[in-house]
Amino acid sequence: MRTLLIANWKMHYGPMKAGGWVRAFRRERLPKEIDIAVAVPHVSLAAARASLGRASIPALASQNSFWAKEGAYTGEVSPDMLQEFGVQYCLVGHSERRALLGETDEMVGKKAAALQSAGIVPVICVGENEAQNKKGEVNKILRQQVTAALAGLKPEGKTPFVFAYEPIWSIGTGKACPAQKAKEAHEVIRAAIQKKFSASLADKVRVIYGGSVDANNISEYITTTGVNGALVGGASLDPRAFAFLCRTANPA
Ligand code: PEP
Repeated sequence: MRTLLIANWKMHYGPMKAGGWVRAFRRERLPKEIDIAVAVPHVSLAAARASLGRASIPALASQNSFWAKEGAYTGEVSPDMLQEFGVQYCLVGHSERRALLGETDEMVGKKAAALQSAGIVPVICVGENEAQNKKGEVNKILRQQVTAALAGLKPEGKTPFVFAYEPIWSIGTGKACPAQKAKEAHEVIRAAIQKKFSASLADKVRVIYGGSVDANNISEYITTTGVNGALVGGASLDPRAFAFLCRTANPA
């Protein structure tokens, strides 16, 4: 299975800076053996696309989408609109959106299904908060979030969907989740996929880890069974540092 690394700029880099990041990243030596994507703010998609031209590395990703095709949804962006920029992946249910904007499991499921119908791979973010972790509720929370997200999804296609396990206490805190704990969480996510679909699909779907990943710890994650890549926030803001992280993830 090919490793997948996704840079998540979060709310950084508008159109004036996005092109510069893409050009600087592309000047670096980039491993072809792994899949690399960059999730940019909606307003920066056009600039990132223009700087990419026909190049396919990094793939373009979005940080969010609405579920309807079009209509009276002021401020929202549809999967078809993202398609026009050649967006290949879209994050859904990032914990920042769940916490700050009230995204529910049901909304996340609707977004994931709509993206899939538009030919965009949903990257569904799931994970427990610190209190839930302390109470030993990790597996329960993951089963709940994954099952809801899978409700409208189809199992077909080369990459039907991706899950990102992102323990909230680990995002942007420098407290990376021990790889063994991430492995256990990924197994719970795979078990829920198997329950809904099949063991063969569960084996095929990439489950990536996110939370304080950097060039120092990336190797530990991607050499852990069942961890198929990473979602990288803070450590993706510098294009050279992120390129180094990508090379570290692929020492070949
Ligand atoms: C993220 O934004 O999804 C994330 C994992 O952030 P960070 O790498 O900064 O913890």
